[in-house]
Amino acid sequence: MTAEEFEQTLRHNLSHRTDLSIESKMLPYQKGDYTLLRIASQFIEPSDKVLLIRAGIHGDEIAGPLYVLQYADEIFTKAQEKGIKVILYPLGNPSGFETGSRYNIDGDKGEAGNGDFMRYELLDGTIVDDLGLNSGEPFKRWFWSSDLSMSIHLPLETQAMHEWLSSDPLSQVVACIDLHQDYLTQDASPGAYAYTFGDTLVYKSIIEKIEQIVPILRDQAFDAGFQNEQKMTTDAFGCIERHDGSLTDLLNRIGAKYSVTVETMGKTPIEVAMEVNRVWVEGVMGMMEV
Ligand SMILES: [Zn+2]
Repeated sequence: MTAEEFEQTLRHNLSHRTDLSIESKMLPYQKGDYTLLRIASQFIEPSDKVLLIRAGIHGDEIAGPLYVLQYADEIFTKAQEKGIKVILYPLGNPSGFETGSRYNIDGDKGEAGNGDFMRYELLDGTIVDDLGLNSGEPFKRWFWSSDLSMSIHLPLETQAMHEWLSSDPLSQVVACIDLHQDYLTQDASPGAYAYTFGDTLVYKSIIEKIEQIVPILRDQAFDAGFQNEQKMTTDAFGCIERHDGSLTDLLNRIGAKYSVTVETMGKTPIEVAMEVNRVWVEGVMGMMEV
C-alpha cells in the first residue's frame, strides 16, 4: 500500500464524521513529497481529557497504521462515548511505510533515530538521548530535541511532528500510546511487551486481556535500540521503564498519567498485533474515564 492509498482509505473511512479536524503537512524529501496527517477531535476545550495516539514512526512496523486504518472510526466513537478527546497521528513515517523501511525514503536517521523527542542533561553536563540502564538515576534537566539552541538535526517527519506537538494541548494529555512492532530483537517468537512509566500494576487487566491472544514477554531481556550490548528486562507484566527520549518519554515528563509504547514481536501475525494495539487503546480509554 502506498502512503497516498493509506491516506485516501483513512479519509474515506472517516468521511461520514463531522466531529473531526483533519490536517496535513507536506514532507518534501529529496526523493519525493509525502503527506503527514493529524486527525483530532474538534473543539478540544481546556477541561477536556486528551488521548494522544501515534502509529508508524518506524515505517516497517505496519501493525499500528493498519490498526488505525481499520479502527479509526471506532476509536473516535468510543472516545466520544467516554467524553475523551483524541489527537491521532495515524502514519508517523509515510515514506517509510510505503518503502517498508524503518527510516524515511531519504534514509535520514537524524542524530538519534526518527523517534527523537528529547535530550537529557546529566549531572556532569553530558547530553544524552537515552538514559537507558540509568533510567532511574537523577539528571540535571530535560529538553525537547527540537530546542533551537541545540541545533539537533531531526528527520523531516520527526521535525513536523515536533511542530504539531508544540501547539497541541499537551498538558491535557492524560494518556499517550505509541504503536510499534519489534523487528530488532533477534530470534524472538510471537509475543507482546511494552515500555511504560511508573507502577505497572495499573495495566494488569490490559495485560491479562492481551495474554489471551498472544504470550506476554515477561522477565525477558531486550536490547532493541541500544547501540551497545546493553539490555533491559521486562517485569512480571511484560513492561520496561526506559527513558529513551521517545514520544512516550516526552509525554511522561510533561505529565501524562499513562504513557505507553506498545510492542509486538515482528513474528506475531499482523491481525494479532493489530488486536494487541486495540486492547491497549480501549483499555487505556477505560482507565482515563475514572
Ligand atoms: Zn518501533
